[in-house]
Amino acid sequence: MSDLQFDGRAVIGGQRVGAVSGATFVCLSPVDGRVLTEVARCSGADIDRAVVAARSAFDDRRWCGQAPAQRKRVLIRFAELLLKHGDELALIETLDMGKPVQYARKVDVNSAANCIRWYGEAVDKVYGEVAPTADTALALITHEPMGVVGAIVPWNYPMIMAAWKIAPALAAGNSVVLKPSEKSPLTALRMADLALEAGIPAGVFNVVPGFGPEAGAPLALHMDVDCIAFTGSTRVGKQIHVMAGQSNLKRAWTELGGKSPNIVFADCPDLDQAVKAAIHSIFFNQGQSCNAPSRLYVQAGIKERFLEKALALVPGYAPANPLLADTVMGALVDPAQMDTVLRYIESGKAQGARLVAGGEQVLRETGGCYVQPTIFDDVNRDMAIAREEIFGPVLSVLAFTDTAEVVREANASVYGLQAAVWTRDLNKAHGVARALRAGTVHVNQYDEDDMTVPFGGFRQSGVGRDKSLHAFDKYTETKTTWIRIDSPL
Ligand code: ADP
Repeated sequence: MSDLQFDGRAVIGGQRVGAVSGATFVCLSPVDGRVLTEVARCSGADIDRAVVAARSAFDDRRWCGQAPAQRKRVLIRFAELLLKHGDELALIETLDMGKPVQYARKVDVNSAANCIRWYGEAVDKVYGEVAPTADTALALITHEPMGVVGAIVPWNYPMIMAAWKIAPALAAGNSVVLKPSEKSPLTALRMADLALEAGIPAGVFNVVPGFGPEAGAPLALHMDVDCIAFTGSTRVGKQIHVMAGQSNLKRAWTELGGKSPNIVFADCPDLDQAVKAAIHSIFFNQGQSCNAPSRLYVQAGIKERFLEKALALVPGYAPANPLLADTVMGALVDPAQMDTVLRYIESGKAQGARLVAGGEQVLRETGGCYVQPTIFDDVNRDMAIAREEIFGPVLSVLAFTDTAEVVREANASVYGLQAAVWTRDLNKAHGVARALRAGTVHVNQYDEDDMTVPFGGFRQSGVGRDKSLHAFDKYTETKTTWIRIDSPL
């Protein structure tokens, strides 16, 4: 670890630079509370510099003017560099936001690299269209890069969330200004170094760390940013759309919160598998996943058996030092997030839910932020722990009896990110999947996933979709070129 370098300066126009104001903020590790480094505390002046750099790179076409096949080569090199530096990136991620290093390496680094490679590979395989007009015209429908894309991402999967935005945006030829979360800025900054090394020209990919209101808001309000792509809370997501409308009507895409229902019918094909998936998906990443299945609906006849099996798995998720190779549950991102989670646990108890596992802060002596995997039974729909996104390792178990009732309950949420149904009855699986108001419905699994499918939500879970070829729509404008043809024949 002694040779691990942290550089908290911004990357603007291909250079490492401090904030114009000279301000910095302290980056603390939730693993043990230690100071990792100082990070540039960027604000409006730095965002302006980054947008000027991004705009000039776009205007002189140093990136968007390259053939798609060339952008592909560079992006694939970028992905390979992420893998080459995978151990370093994983270590930085774990120190910065507390997730187990084995997952930082196997999941975060690999998924981010895979995403960048996937869009790189795709970009020279997407075609425009010729419209079915009369013979007197040739109408071309093409998709052009928008220009300068702003991206604001959260701290739960810093590299993956960054990759989901920057990969399609860069592949399509845009310039990007990325603002990582103030809680986990370090890997995004390293990604910018590696992007330069891979051959992405200076100014095309800029990373500007700082706080939301100080650096995020000026980006969302900027008059020369063409598009803002955001992942984070629904509260801030709503502000992003307002800021887009208040300024230049930049395109605004938001991937926001969730309170995803996981419905297990008594005829579930494999109860052990359902239990394993329910537990793993809510406790993975210390529960800090927007798509975590935090509302578990179990049909009355199997609930006791389900819970018994679930409780048997809980000790396997005991929090431990995330730097150890076999740790599966690490630290929450910071003391503030830990307090939020502990407050929800108190509210669950106060509102009459039955605490059947966990509920406590642990490993206090480390100076880090650790909370036990927590399960509440006998939760009802009116409790805060059944309605609100906790973003921590807290599972709410609710019983149901009939199908129409559980679909109604599952849909009774402001969110609509994901949902799951477990049944061996094909009709029920299709019928319930169709009725659930969610961007993704899992059937007899949770969390299986790849780059080929869109990710995003209905209702207040956001606007637009990450991943898959659909994401190109967010970062391109559709142009019609109508050519008159006077036939010489
Ligand atoms: P989370 O709970 O995941 O941290 P937030 O919505 O608070 O969700 O933060 C997600 C991202 O949005 C972070 O990069 C944060 O700095 C940024 N952010 C927070 N507040 C604002 C704001 N007012 N304007 C723009 N960006 C913001």
